Amino acid sequence: MLAKIWSSAVVGLDALPIEVEVDVSSGGLPAFNIVGLADRAVEESKERVRAAIRNSGASFPAKRITVNLAPADLPKEGPSYDLAIAIGILIASEQLKADVSKFLFSGELSLDGKLRFTNSILSQAILAREKKFEGFFLPKINAKEAASIKGINIFPSEDLTQIFLHLIDQVKIEPQTFNDEVSDQEDFIYDFKDIKGQEQARRALEIAAAGSHNVIFKGPPGAGKTLLSRTLPSILPKMTFEEMVEVTKIYSISGLLKNSGLVSKRPFRAPHHTTSHVGLIGGGTVPKPGEVTLAHRGVLFLDEIPEFQKITMEALRQPLEDGFVSIARAAGRVTFPAHFMLIAALNPCPCGYFGDPTHKCTCAITSVFKYQKKISGPILDRIDIHLDIPAVKTEKLTGDQTFEESAKIRERVQNARDIQIERYKHLNISSNSELKGAELKNFCKLDAESQSLLKVAVEKMRLSARSYYRIIKLARTIADLEISENIKTHHLAEALQYRPKSGIN
Ligand SMILES: [Zn+2]
Repeated sequence: MLAKIWSSAVVGLDALPIEVEVDVSSGGLPAFNIVGLADRAVEESKERVRAAIRNSGASFPAKRITVNLAPADLPKEGPSYDLAIAIGILIASEQLKADVSKFLFSGELSLDGKLRFTNSILSQAILAREKKFEGFFLPKINAKEAASIKGINIFPSEDLTQIFLHLIDQVKIEPQTFNDEVSDQEDFIYDFKDIKGQEQARRALEIAAAGSHNVIFKGPPGAGKTLLSRTLPSILPKMTFEEMVEVTKIYSISGLLKNSGLVSKRPFRAPHHTTSHVGLIGGGTVPKPGEVTLAHRGVLFLDEIPEFQKITMEALRQPLEDGFVSIARAAGRVTFPAHFMLIAALNPCPCGYFGDPTHKCTCAITSVFKYQKKISGPILDRIDIHLDIPAVKTEKLTGDQTFEESAKIRERVQNARDIQIERYKHLNISSNSELKGAELKNFCKLDAESQSLLKVAVEKMRLSARSYYRIIKLARTIADLEISENIKTHHLAEALQYRPKSGIN
């Protein structure tokens, strides 16, 4: 007999329906084959399914079993087809009599028939809703994740036996109701109240967080570049529901979600400079997200940016420009979102002390120049805030002066971001940093006084056209932080401080 069960495969971030056909026939010697571009983990499913069926008290048919995963041209990977294959075998061997044509099944089985935590459940739950499946059977441990999607019947299941009994109307599984409770408490390790001094850097990060601007910090070792960057998440605006769903999907397919609902904290990723190209950008036979996608809607912190390989740095151009990465695979390309704030940090020279009044730089002047030039122009072009971080004077470090706490700064950031979300609601962008061309001119009008100030600056500082627009976008954010409808001269004057200084760009 032939049975057909619905399961799904994830391509990029989205799930596609997969029809699992199971044929059990008496002809020939007993065999168990899986066809349809299955990887090793799917192959191994045979042993798990065999043991799970036996250990659940059913019998594994000593017949010829063929499983076809259709469409055949789509690569299938991982253990999530176990459940659909097992249900298919039980139906095709006539041990289970039930109509399952309107249900979706996904989950890895353990040898005793229990359902284990399975990746990519959120994307599959969204598919279940889109394709109007009447119910989605999945591992109980994934229930919170799937329940963050409204409008589907979720059946959180402990094991194969429970689903069997549910399908023959013996013991019903209680459907999980919609629950948009977020997974992680927003507790932050670092707080700006604990950072001594560095007033200009604190202010720069507040502006960056408000308008989602990219930042580059240059300063000697120990100046606090890393600490400042790691404190940034504590002042980032809250994610919208849609953003949380996007980030959770990414974490779910990457196996970073464990028994939790929506991710509410903006990601902070800090890959080391030895990270491979695929590690940073994404890739693989069945493409997986890289660091740029794991940082989506959050922060990508690249410390010691000149140490990253040139090819890796070049690959950052597309996500910085477009907010996504496109990865080649056997059948076409797959796209992952990669809309992040870049925070880059570098020492001023290989030894770290060029320009430091208290330490002597031991580098040849040519190597200082070469080091700073290692960051490619197109990357620098996409950085709105350039800041030199001086070493903090000892009296500041030991002084008892108190500094503003992150929660207070975050309130201002949130207000400024809310203004932007409202202003750009018809544009499909949410922050000033994303403004381009005509929109920029439309939303960043300058009065006569500001125009003349900028004109003088352009001439005196020999600003490029790119710098010109960067300054206007930044001034827009500074005005939003002040809840000022128009950009005024003092907003522009402050924005001008964050242009690149001599040395780089
Ligand atoms: Zn040096």
